[in-house]
Amino acid sequence: MEKKIVLVTGAGRGLGRAAARALAGPDRLVYVHYSSSSNGAEELVAELGAQGFGARAIRADLADPEEVLALISKILEEEGRLDILVNNAGITRDQLMVRMSAEDFDQVMAVNLKAPFLLMREAARSMMRKRSGRIINMASVVGLTGNAGQANYAASKAALIAMTRSLAAELGSRGVTVNAVAPGFIETDMTACLAAGVRDRYLETIPLRRTGQPEEVAALVAFLASEGAAYITGQVISVDGGLHRG
Ligand code: NAP
Repeated sequence: MEKKIVLVTGAGRGLGRAAARALAGPDRLVYVHYSSSSNGAEELVAELGAQGFGARAIRADLADPEEVLALISKILEEEGRLDILVNNAGITRDQLMVRMSAEDFDQVMAVNLKAPFLLMREAARSMMRKRSGRIINMASVVGLTGNAGQANYAASKAALIAMTRSLAAELGSRGVTVNAVAPGFIETDMTACLAAGVRDRYLETIPLRRTGQPEEVAALVAFLASEGAAYITGQVISVDGGLHRG
């Protein structure tokens, strides 16, 4: 049976690593993308290989559009197709807007929005030809609600959600689904730097009164990539302990 080709961006650590693990299997070849986390990526490739699953590490700085295009071209040239794309890599450059530099705005947009745009555009061409494919974008609950100190990040995620819905409408007739996942407060490096007081205040607003684990987000990503999710497209699904009830 032909293996499904999978690309997960930012899979050397955090949510991407958990998603790549959840997407791996005997009938899959997972490209474990990383930028600086080469050790994490290589370890994951070795771990998946030991289970008999196909996995390859691949590096690109997603802040650089040329590297983004080189990344997707390499996979499409080597494999002839991409079946599942998970746009997970993302950054924050938090600051109140009155103090936010244009550079911090541009950086966040480059990694969180432009890179997914370029990857989706290139992947979509190949998926349309095959009349099948899955695209899953890692948004955020703050893309739905906004958040003080995160205007750039929240805007990038809101735009990613709008892009998800737009592309779902464009690709539906070609059998390609496009969905977004909106995590709340998940335990990764991104949230590890929060001060204890801020963390406690967040927890009080979460109905389940706890943070989430990367595996709890990865389970949804795996479902959206599965046959069981064939009739779901253009959706934004929160994994946030009940934080956003929109
Ligand atoms: P993280 O632990 O900070 O990891 C960030 C990931 O993005 C890393 O894999 C990193 O790759 C990659 N990345 C950053 N800059 C990059 C660049 N210039 N080029 C290529 N890759 C780059 O974050 P996380 O918590 O796992 O978050 C993953 C996604 O979930 C992000 O899109 C984030 O916005 C979203 N999210 C997270 C939470 C949360 O609570 N954790 C909540 C909502 C949404 P390297 O390490 O290889 O550089």
